[in-house]
Amino acid sequence: MSQPELYDVTIIGGGPAGLYSAFYCGMRDMKTKIIEHNDRLGGKVLLYQEKMIWDIGGMTPLNGEQLVENLIQQANTFDPTFVFKQRIQYMERLENGHIRLTAETGEVHESKTVIIAAGSGVLVQRKLEIEGAEKYEVSNLHYTVTSLEQFKGKRVLISGGGDSAVDWANEIAPIAESVTIVHRRDMFGGLERHVRHMKEVAEVLTPYALTTLHSTDGSMINSVTISNVDTEEEETLFVDEVIVNHGVHGDHGLLREWGLDMTQYQIYCNKFMETELPGVFCAGDTALHEGKLRLIAGAFVEAGLAANAAKTFIDPEATKAAYVSSHNERFKEKNKELQQQQRVGV
Ligand SMILES: Cc1cc2nc3c(=O)[nH]c(=O)nc-3n(C[C@H](O)[C@H](O)[C@H](O)COP(=O)(O)OP(=O)(O)OC[C@H]3O[C@@H](n4cnc5c(N)ncnc54)[C@H](O)[C@@H]3O)c2cc1C
Repeated sequence: MSQPELYDVTIIGGGPAGLYSAFYCGMRDMKTKIIEHNDRLGGKVLLYQEKMIWDIGGMTPLNGEQLVENLIQQANTFDPTFVFKQRIQYMERLENGHIRLTAETGEVHESKTVIIAAGSGVLVQRKLEIEGAEKYEVSNLHYTVTSLEQFKGKRVLISGGGDSAVDWANEIAPIAESVTIVHRRDMFGGLERHVRHMKEVAEVLTPYALTTLHSTDGSMINSVTISNVDTEEEETLFVDEVIVNHGVHGDHGLLREWGLDMTQYQIYCNKFMETELPGVFCAGDTALHEGKLRLIAGAFVEAGLAANAAKTFIDPEATKAAYVSSHNERFKEKNKELQQQQRVGV
């Protein structure tokens, strides 16, 4: 096995906390790698790309997709190394004090420090428990909504009753031919006024469960069978698109065996984002401490703290925090470029 390149800091997870950590580690002049299990960056925000986000300081409302774009652009400021489709499962301390991370796929990474920004773990969509359903995932069976456009003029069936199912019903209804929501219970998640609105704009069938998918050509779902959970009475509905919103759950996998003090989803850390393992820090939804603010804004603060802690772990003489960006030498050349672009109106 060839020796992996050594990094100052390796960030596990490419959600908001990981991306902002990458930027901040760059500001602290650390050689940075970010490893993401998905083939895309953005973390949980990818679950609500079309939703508007209002509660990030200094950002007027922007949707999830725009936020992810901005975060990626910012993370790229100091050219970190990105690694995709690798789920880190093992962490071990080498004799020289460095940390070795091993992915499920067998790839090995070596780093002086690690920031765990793994959210609630790898997100696993609760899938439809209907045999053969997966073959329609490339056509008209959806577990998330990436574009509203694809539902324009369509007969859309949504299975599920959580906040997301309610929100998608409300958002799709104005452009779809019809929206039918099928749910096992008469209780729906989300704000009362959203549920009320959903009942006005969508046909709501409870207590029903989706039991069979039918296709005339084997490639697209054309109709479904739903069954009344109490009476077992069945109905057939003709549909163009099916959205399943049965929720997601996080899975930290073998990270739980790294010797960290953890709850099911979170790692205990101190106010500097230090875990009990030397050189291992955490940020974002993964991190648990007394002052926890479980918001993207909170993740940004933790990312900065984790990056500063990683820097001083490597170099105890380094300043405790990065110098403010407005007067930071690291941006001198980049500022010249930006000012030049502004002058020529690019
Ligand atoms: C529906 C919804 C709406 C929300 N709305 C808002 C809002 O309006 N405002 C707000 O502030 N917050 C909101 N949040 C919360 C916000 O999305 C989270 O706080 C934020 O995404 C946390 O970022 P993170 O980087 O810590 O974790 P995540 O976004 O969960 O990212 C973690 C990343 O780590 C990866 N990963 C996990 N384990 C591994 C591993 N072992 N190896 C490699 N990669 C791994 C995952 O694939 C994931 O990409 C919302 C959350 C949800 C679910």
